[in-house]
Amino acid sequence: MVLKTMLDQARARLYEAARHLDITADVLEKLKSPRETTQARLVIRMDDGASKSYPAWRCRYDDTLGPTKGGIRFHPDVSIDEVETLAFLMTMKCALINLPFGGAKGGVQVDIHNLSATEQERLARRYVQCFAKVIGPNRDIPAPDVYTNSTIMAWMADEYAAIVGEVTPAVITGKPIALGGSLGREDATARGGYYLLLHQAQKLGLRPGARVAIQGFGNAGKHIAQLLGAAGFRIVAVTDSKGGVQCSSGLDVDKLISAKRQGRSVTSLAGSDGVCTLPADELVSVNCELLVLAALEDMVHAGNAARIKAPVILELANAPITPEADKILNAKNIVVLPDILANAGGVTVSYFEWVQNRQGDSWPIEQVHARLKTKMEQEGDAVWTLAQEKGITLRSAAYVHALSRLAEAIEAQGTQRFLMG
Ligand code: NAD
Repeated sequence: MVLKTMLDQARARLYEAARHLDITADVLEKLKSPRETTQARLVIRMDDGASKSYPAWRCRYDDTLGPTKGGIRFHPDVSIDEVETLAFLMTMKCALINLPFGGAKGGVQVDIHNLSATEQERLARRYVQCFAKVIGPNRDIPAPDVYTNSTIMAWMADEYAAIVGEVTPAVITGKPIALGGSLGREDATARGGYYLLLHQAQKLGLRPGARVAIQGFGNAGKHIAQLLGAAGFRIVAVTDSKGGVQCSSGLDVDKLISAKRQGRSVTSLAGSDGVCTLPADELVSVNCELLVLAALEDMVHAGNAARIKAPVILELANAPITPEADKILNAKNIVVLPDILANAGGVTVSYFEWVQNRQGDSWPIEQVHARLKTKMEQEGDAVWTLAQEKGITLRSAAYVHALSRLAEAIEAQGTQRFLMG
């Protein structure tokens, strides 16, 4: 039996969405594979004088709607399949949230925990040297993703400026504020999911005081914990790559964040104030009303989906639920707010940053939040209505919504029916 790639699995969702729309074959022909994937080996000098090399990729999946957009991930498990899959998801996400962007993704196969800060800087700069012809403010615009951050974006923007001979802040988003970053970018992914959740809370049966379990306590996970905690939700369990903690009366989110800031795992809180350890793989089966997935892909699979007790799942991570697990959750009537909608806040504020850079402007935080809230609520309502009308899951509806926008744009360039009469 030939095992399906991640990209095959993701594409299956595209073909399923196409069944609900009257689109020409040209659309799927264009979207079935990436437009271009570039591969390089990044050779850098280590602090001890030795050379080391790391495989790296940049995929521009589709640019029908505009320059391609997507983060760069530094992770030991990054592969071409993962990068192309995430670039595909970005294509659907940008279409769904109605941004003038196509989808892209980049990655370097590296464990940054083994690199010093200066080695990380050399790696970030080498990435841009190798992919300088691929990226550009009107061509392909990177951003942070797993294990990359605003400082890494600053190094990359600086390297790009050195190569092209002009300061070009719009080439990359997620920069530090002092270098043209947007206010509100730091917590945008979580905030977008939070606005969506609050807007649909009544329909989802969620009330303040509801118990929340969060998988992953990085950028997306810690900010959703802060926002939901401040809104009166009870964060009863969290995990990171080292393990987890739980407390039925609610964890102290500030203490968790301060532990992470000091380089410790969330597990370091165990033993104090009624906080107990929780094996990472038990997070999904914690008793709660809301499960937030904010770590990596494929964390909910056929082997653990049946153990989920939460009636609602918010996907802040990309592709955290496999298609087999989706079927199990659907059969259990668990509502999933799907990744391409739920985590679109990040790329939305990235788009705001790109617009501000091109305008030479900087928007107040209230403007960023208000515009983000409007987008999440509008597109969230559209997806919800489509799901009701067609009797399909929110994930299928999200794909139908995104695909209908892409199809309209692709068909606007002429179809076989139009050209051949
Ligand atoms: P991050 O690197 O800041 O955090 C990742 C977190 O996941 C870390 O706390 C890590 O310890 C944890 N983790 C890793 N393996 C785990 C495991 N097995 N169990 C539990 N936790 C584990 O990354 P991030 O930016 O927060 O991204 C998280 C997810 O959200 C990714 O899928 C990313 O693609 C997606 N996402 C992020 C953004 C953004 O703007 N940051 C935007 C859209 C989507």
